[in-house]
Amino acid sequence: MELNWNQCIICQEETSEPLKCPLESHYQSGKTDAYLSFLTNVQQFRDMDTLPTSIYFGSDAIVADFETHSASWHKSCRLKFNNSKLARAKKRSVSQVNEHDRRPSKRKAMNEKGQEEGDVYTLCQHLMLMPIFDQ
Ligand SMILES: [Zn+2]
Repeated sequence: MELNWNQCIICQEETSEPLKCPLESHYQSGKTDAYLSFLTNVQQFRDMDTLPTSIYFGSDAIVADFETHSASWHKSCRLKFNNSKLARAKKRSVSQVNEHDRRPSKRKAMNEKGQEEGDVYTLCQHLMLMPIFDQ
């Protein structure tokens, strides 16, 4: 399917949500950075095979294309590819592999720390109370 640059480049649908073009941002520098970070994230989602939605351009899409066509998107569509979504997807793909190894050790570490703190606290209480008992 041919990408329609006049539509949201992510969903290619016309909705009531206004289109945003990073090139029209008020910031003077780094306007194409938005495209770059978007494409970088898309590629990483692709690599993990966890694209949040099907997209209409290939992995050969480059920032210059986006810039030439003043690519626009819905903010809500762009958000599906932001860094925190990517981080979550990464975490999920890691935990699928390591889930059994990681969870028990994490819990054990927390318990050990908690006990340690408890012991120190009890010891302090004893030290504070002892002189009182001696008198
Ligand atoms: Zn969209």
